[in-house]
Amino acid sequence: MRPFLSHPFDDDKLKEECGIFGVIGVSDAANFVALGLHALQHRGQEAGGIVSYHPDHGFNSARRFGYVRDNFTKADVMDTLPGQLAIGHVRYSTAGSKGATAIRDVQPFFGEFSMGGCAVAHNGNLTNAAALRRELIERGSIFQSSSDSECIIHLMARSIQKNLSERIKDALRACEGAFSVVAMTRTKLIGVRDSLGVRPLVLGRIGDSGWALSSETCALDIIGAEFVREIEPGEMVVIEGNKVISTRPFNPSPSRFCIFEQVYFSRPDSIIGGRSVYETRRQIGVELAREAPVEADLVCPVPDSGTPAAIGYSQESGIPYAMGIIRNQYMGRTFIEPTESIRNMGVRLKLNVNRALVKGKRVILVDDSVVRGTTSRKIKDMILEAGAAEVHFRIASPPTAWPCFYGVDTPERSKLLAATMSEDEMRDWIGVDSLKFISLDGLYRAAGEAGGRDPLAPRFCDACFSGDYPVAPSDKIAEGFEMKAAE
Ligand code: SF4
Repeated sequence: MRPFLSHPFDDDKLKEECGIFGVIGVSDAANFVALGLHALQHRGQEAGGIVSYHPDHGFNSARRFGYVRDNFTKADVMDTLPGQLAIGHVRYSTAGSKGATAIRDVQPFFGEFSMGGCAVAHNGNLTNAAALRRELIERGSIFQSSSDSECIIHLMARSIQKNLSERIKDALRACEGAFSVVAMTRTKLIGVRDSLGVRPLVLGRIGDSGWALSSETCALDIIGAEFVREIEPGEMVVIEGNKVISTRPFNPSPSRFCIFEQVYFSRPDSIIGGRSVYETRRQIGVELAREAPVEADLVCPVPDSGTPAAIGYSQESGIPYAMGIIRNQYMGRTFIEPTESIRNMGVRLKLNVNRALVKGKRVILVDDSVVRGTTSRKIKDMILEAGAAEVHFRIASPPTAWPCFYGVDTPERSKLLAATMSEDEMRDWIGVDSLKFISLDGLYRAAGEAGGRDPLAPRFCDACFSGDYPVAPSDKIAEGFEMKAAE
């Protein structure tokens, strides 16, 4: 039976994309990868996979639904993945068979070429995948999965380059959109980021002999690897033995890292652009308190992602911080195949109000984002039922008014509350005393851009807030998606 991994509360959040991890130069590389994927589990809980290579046993793979800790800790799986070279992937389906992933959609993908095998794991989303797939199928490719990432393997097969690293370059030059990739051949571990660097990828050192590539630094910590540096936007690294060879396969362009990684996706103990994600989130709260002050008795986070911003808001405003809402940490694993009546309990299954604390108080609730707004409404109901005198929402991101096409699962535009309502209308619809979002400039300041957002050269991708897409989503435009009109 497949475990129940989603929840009504999570349905009102943007979904993390995927996590990727690779290791070379250590015995039992697959065990290191399993630990790394465990630390990246927040980026995808639906399924995971590992491919390893051993000179005597060749390439081996294991793909499973569910959590890493339930699948990649047992000897009967890990003993089948020998070798000093391995890569892995945790998945939340952003393209392909959403919500009903088949095991064939679980990465890494593998291809056997005339010069040897190659496994590829991809974080992001190819915005021209539908067009690529159509063209590849017309030219004879036979796809095994519904995933956009499989295009990379078929494009490699079409390349006339003599080695696999060059074939990966050829393949990725044909891809549009967002991609961070880890790949492996029999002897090499390879990492690539698209030229905008939308999705993260970092390099780590394991002792004197090993190297790791990871979506986030938090996964280097768990295996005791030392953070070396970020793979730069548009860079490819090929690691063999003790050598890390860097090339720039793509046309250079200014980087546009996903700013939502700072707000929500990345773990707070990760480092991005030399800054702690926790510190950026705390600073968002500081900016929010300056931009949107209100008289109140308590600042409470909507756990867990609103916590650092609530701490920052409290520190800047001087209003006491308190845990007014308690999260049940074990909810995700409690119910296998829940009944309809349990589903209808909705957000109460995951969050509970600390009644003794909020009764009679004016409460500021700090959350990371508002997507559909349904959860915000339920949380407001719970706080008021517990006797709060006033409820004020402060949101640590600007209004989410546009879908993401770069590897984050967002509802279609018409389902986004901010696409259809003004801030005042959202406040009335949610039913709170006040509702304020951080401005885009405030978010940029919190992320280290002292001057705020430069509209002519924004440093981050912020398309889900601004409608300013750094790569035109060509498949979606072909389906009828309308880009924001130029101002
Ligand atoms: S659209 Fe939003 S979520 Fe998607 S990459 Fe850009 S900032 Fe990140």
